[in-house]
Amino acid sequence: MTAPANHSFPERRGVCPGLSRPLPTGDGLLLRLITIGTIPLDAFAALCTAARRHGNGIIEITARGSVQIRGLNADSASKFADEIATLGIAAEDGVPVLCNPLAGLDAEEIFDASMLAAALRGALARRSLAERLDPKVSVIIDGGGPFNLARVAADFRLSAQLVNGTPALHIGVGGDAGRAIDLGLIAPEYALKTALRLLSVLAQRGSSVRASAVIAAEGAIPFHDALASARAASATPFDPDGATNLNLSSASSQSKDAIGLHQLRDGSLACGIGLAFGHAEASLLEKVAGAAAAAGARGLRTAPNRALLAIGLTPQDAATFFPAADQLGFVTRAGDPRRHVLACAGAPLCVSGYIAARALAPRIVAAAAPYLGDGSTLHISGCGKGCAHAGAASLTVVGTVDRCALIANGSARGAPFAAATVGELPAAVARYFRERCSAAAIGPGHGADHV
Ligand code: SF4
Repeated sequence: MTAPANHSFPERRGVCPGLSRPLPTGDGLLLRLITIGTIPLDAFAALCTAARRHGNGIIEITARGSVQIRGLNADSASKFADEIATLGIAAEDGVPVLCNPLAGLDAEEIFDASMLAAALRGALARRSLAERLDPKVSVIIDGGGPFNLARVAADFRLSAQLVNGTPALHIGVGGDAGRAIDLGLIAPEYALKTALRLLSVLAQRGSSVRASAVIAAEGAIPFHDALASARAASATPFDPDGATNLNLSSASSQSKDAIGLHQLRDGSLACGIGLAFGHAEASLLEKVAGAAAAAGARGLRTAPNRALLAIGLTPQDAATFFPAADQLGFVTRAGDPRRHVLACAGAPLCVSGYIAARALAPRIVAAAAPYLGDGSTLHISGCGKGCAHAGAASLTVVGTVDRCALIANGSARGAPFAAATVGELPAAVARYFRERCSAAAIGPGHGADHV
């Protein structure tokens, strides 16, 4: 559950803020909630109402599946935090321990990651270890199945595999599933001890140390040692050498898209929808919670890549929920080009905005849609602060005093290669992505340099 807010509000950028730690951004303070499990529909609707009352009415679901409330100030953030603390929404309050969006429900998961995650959260709450860790340190516990967290980066990943039909956990350090350094396998009953020992490796090196920094400075040896000591303490040691010759079945290194239908263990369905351009007005999210309730859902879960899952529907319920969500402007098809686009609220919602980023986005997407495919991202930012996306995008459009700056393969703070007026933007963006597609078809060395 969310802890009562202490309202200390330190101004420290880069820290994942909980209810008691708002983050200063270009459009006021931001509060981030990393929710756990299924959010009851009435609590979700109440959260949206509170965001509307105290913030600027914009809610984001992030690439990692966190909920962000924007446009607060010190006073309203305090009031919002007090209201949310009464709703009983389960949320991370210390080291983020992320598990599959459908953990405990998924018909295809190898084991229930939510149980291990709860045990790890409990163990961390009883120790001082969490206080000695960098606030951005996170752990992923992936129970297997196609709907996983393969694309989400973390300091440590414990990913379920079947070893001759028996669940085991594969330990990875740093990055997403494709980039993490492989430490080997451990039996699930020793996973808690292993996770704590891996986290201790970071804590011993200081409170601003991430796993990637340890790997860069010392290699993976400290983590191999931590795993070896956890294995040595096991009453029935798992045989990692034997396991390499065994029949392994593991989660995919790619994750199934959240948008669409997912079979749950109890025979019902989860229906995934997306937030167009990465965020939605709180009033529309309230309405989508109402549509989920009307369709018979028992709650909502957030999912990576800016998605929401309505839990516990029948195929008939889903057939009413999807059109209702579509009508409200949510993404209901995996191929929707709006999934490739991030836009902040922009003017007039945000006083710092030079352009109406969110309002312009549909027109720009309509022009560029034929060229927005896998791997392409467009970020439309009302000003140079880049609130909607801190990292690089294939193309970033930034509002300035008189024109819009266009930045290729960079962030909102990158160097522009061209400029366009608001009126020219749809054609300029479409031309950029068309040339990018052509260059990709021709091969390397033919990048789109001009619009
Ligand atoms: S215009 Fe957009 S990027 Fe600039 S401060 Fe406002 S929300 Fe942030």
